[in-house]
Amino acid sequence: MPGMSSPRIPGRRFLHSPGPTHLPDAVLAAMARQPMDLADPRVAATIEACDAGLKRLLHTTDGEVFFYAANGHGAWEVVIQNLLAPGTVALVPGTGHFSDGWAQQCEALGRAVQRTAWTEGRSIDPASVAAALHADRERRIAAVFLVHTDTASGVTNDVAAVRAAMDASGHPALLVLDAVATLGAVPIAMDAGRIDVLVGASQKGLMLPPGVGFVVVNAAAQALAQANPTPRFYWDWSRRSGSMPYHRFCGTPPLNLMAGMEAGLQLLFEEGPEAVFARHRRLAAVVHAAVAAWSREGALDFFCTEPAARSVSVTAVRTAPGVDPDAIRRVARESFDVSIAGGLGPLAGRAFRIGHLGDVNAPMLLGALAGVEAAMTVLGVPYGRDGVAAAVAQLARPSAS
Ligand SMILES: *Cc1c(COP(=O)(O)O)cnc(C)c1O
Repeated sequence: MPGMSSPRIPGRRFLHSPGPTHLPDAVLAAMARQPMDLADPRVAATIEACDAGLKRLLHTTDGEVFFYAANGHGAWEVVIQNLLAPGTVALVPGTGHFSDGWAQQCEALGRAVQRTAWTEGRSIDPASVAAALHADRERRIAAVFLVHTDTASGVTNDVAAVRAAMDASGHPALLVLDAVATLGAVPIAMDAGRIDVLVGASQKGLMLPPGVGFVVVNAAAQALAQANPTPRFYWDWSRRSGSMPYHRFCGTPPLNLMAGMEAGLQLLFEEGPEAVFARHRRLAAVVHAAVAAWSREGALDFFCTEPAARSVSVTAVRTAPGVDPDAIRRVARESFDVSIAGGLGPLAGRAFRIGHLGDVNAPMLLGALAGVEAAMTVLGVPYGRDGVAAAVAQLARPSAS
């Protein structure tokens, strides 16, 4: 078979893309089962466990979960089709690649979008959101579509600050949070944070393969959807209730993926969400220590210029002109079995990205950082040679938690 002729890789290829992410063995094992008939009580039990687990993780009693056999783009479309009635507008604060993608999807579906300006390397300025809402005297903006962490730039936005800016403006727009890259990596409290809709996907912090997109929706958002006459079917929230498990999926559920989700959520709660979030902070600091050391020779730097806004899920590393990030990726993968991600959209050819979310521990990350160093050495990229040593020193710091 074409593409299958390469020799077996001894050991493991380390996957450090920010999605899809490495899968825990327990998730793989849970998915390795025969499908079941849809009336089998285990089907309903698995779906209920996923529903309850997501609500628990998100601290919501108000939210209802809708699952889709889809990726994150599918979940974006869910939000657009349910919330945006003709004549209404989505306010999309600029975060770079992912806010652009979501905005373009709105426009492709005939919806009006208002964008706020994106400043490279920076998080959203909540004042720009407040100003856009303030200027909307006719109240055409139905919702703010906020990307929590833009996975392309590695910048995390301050959701509470955007929420506060929305409140101060007195505008009734709903807050829709794209948490695809943050769910399972940082604390999110939907009800307390007054997040009306949360958008998620399976293949990042939740430690699952791609294939399930979902939204968690509060009563205000459901009321807005109910009043929206836009024709829709598969995405429609109102078609997703009923006594049988498949009613919630508008057809056959992706059973094996849901079994994986049940197992993944169980792992998350066994470790404890606070411990999971602390691990993400600790490991992000380890990567940041390496990148800071590498950057001393001037050929690399953090893409995010605001240290407090650097993501705990992914670090985007900007490369100077003449340094090819895709060559670094290729050598890292082909010669050292370390898979990292490239630049997307405005960062294509200008950055590489190291994912550090999900089922990751310190030795995996040290291996990944060493593989990237080896690739840069092979290619003659000038970098501060003590990146891995700085990562080890960061790990060994007693205060690192
Ligand atoms: C990955 C990602 C998406 C898109 O998800 P797909 O499953 O690739 O469609 C959307 N938003 C964010 C923040 C992401 O990281």
